[in-house]
Amino acid sequence: MTDIDSAPVALNAPARDTEVLVIGGGPAGASAGYWLSQLGHDVTIIEKKTFPREKTCGDGLTPRAVKQLHDMGLGDQLTQFHRYEGLRAKAHGRALEMHWPEHPIYPQHGYVVRRRELDMMVAKNAQSSGAHLLEGHEALTPILDRGFVRGAVITSKADNTTFEIHAKYVIVADGANSRFGRALGTSRAKKWPYGTAIRTYWESPRHAEPWIESALDVKDRNGNSMPGYGWIFPVGDGTINIGVGLLSTFRDFKSVNTTHMLDSYAHMIADDWGINPDTPTCKATSGRIPMGGSVGPKIGPTHIVIGDAAGSVNPFNGEGIDYAYETAHMAADCLHDALVSGDPVALQRYSKLVEDEYGEYFKVARLFARIIGRPVLMRELSRVGLQSRTLMEWVLRIMANLLRPDEIGAAEVAYKAAAQIVRLFPNA
Ligand SMILES: Cc1cc2nc3c(=O)[nH]c(=O)nc-3n(C[C@H](O)[C@H](O)[C@H](O)COP(=O)(O)OP(=O)(O)OC[C@H]3O[C@@H](n4cnc5c(N)ncnc54)[C@H](O)[C@@H]3O)c2cc1C
Repeated sequence: MTDIDSAPVALNAPARDTEVLVIGGGPAGASAGYWLSQLGHDVTIIEKKTFPREKTCGDGLTPRAVKQLHDMGLGDQLTQFHRYEGLRAKAHGRALEMHWPEHPIYPQHGYVVRRRELDMMVAKNAQSSGAHLLEGHEALTPILDRGFVRGAVITSKADNTTFEIHAKYVIVADGANSRFGRALGTSRAKKWPYGTAIRTYWESPRHAEPWIESALDVKDRNGNSMPGYGWIFPVGDGTINIGVGLLSTFRDFKSVNTTHMLDSYAHMIADDWGINPDTPTCKATSGRIPMGGSVGPKIGPTHIVIGDAAGSVNPFNGEGIDYAYETAHMAADCLHDALVSGDPVALQRYSKLVEDEYGEYFKVARLFARIIGRPVLMRELSRVGLQSRTLMEWVLRIMANLLRPDEIGAAEVAYKAAAQIVRLFPNA
């Protein structure tokens, strides 16, 4: 156990009870709250910030995320934001615009939505559906009873009251840093890749473009190649979200200064996008990206870990919002079974659901992360890839996890071949 659960906390307000306590009101926690309240349960979401709140992000919603938002009844509200149709990949002087692939389950478009608006919309939706949302409240320590989590000690930032919330089950959805999860014994598989990324916003005349853009050849101000990738996501409100990301498998990962890298990238694309690289609309902020299912264990006898707290980001592209929504939905279903049957063993189904849904895919993605960590390979792959639309369309389908379950195309064949390879490496 870490310091979080050992510090004594003085209580000065009465305890409360709930069936399920959710720690964190981001995409994972808010959607878990929504699904549990839809299933008729008494659920309380604790969020330490007050909405609308900022969250460092590219703000890109891919088709998987859009589907989840539709499923939560937010399809109409989404239409007020900037819709885009696909990806423009750029490298070595070439550019390729690709529509999101057709899929029997997922829509063929995405949105770019600032997180201060997206997360408030999803949290308020959970609240409207019956979840109790305590904003400006922080979960300080888990309440443990013979090794079982039975709630948390909570503090209200507004009046400094401290009280306990007792629960039958707890969902850990406190994001990439996940202090609460770590207090319950979660840790990251140290040899697996993780990411780091930085972003800010600029005003641009091209703020309403129907493509998000990704650059595979970021250069410094002297024209030398830098490890990592860059993105430009048009927000549709007069601004564009520009960021750069790196994987821990990349050469020089620890010594790269991401602030300088973002500055170089902004200068590199300034003329194209009509921005003044020296005047972003706000200070750049960065964050760590735990990925590929690298954090566990994902369940305990009375708790489930979801979203970034469980390292659920897709290593192929750094998307995590969709996986936060999806893992939340799976967790809510399992907790519903446990609450209805009175049998906590139902929680174990969550580990299996996550493994069935992402296990092999994340393994292939981790292998990919290792391959593109080699600069020569990365350069060759992006150079060759961008010469073939067909090849890049398969790559997009694989990287966005939009493989078809119903028919086998070239992308599915390529993916299956990669999956065969990773099966030879059980611990990859
Ligand atoms: C620079 C960057 C760019 C990214 N770009 C994209 C992108 O374009 N598209 C995409 O899909 N993903 C992107 N991601 C990943 C994405 O941001 C995450 O995967 C996603 O936010 C995970 O949601 P979550 O609910 O698990 O965690 P979070 O969004 O981090 O939410 C956790 C919440 O818990 C609250 N909290 C934490 N501790 C406590 C506590 N003790 N008590 C109460 N509340 C607490 C926090 O305030 C926060 O609101 C990006 C990440 C980074 C860093």
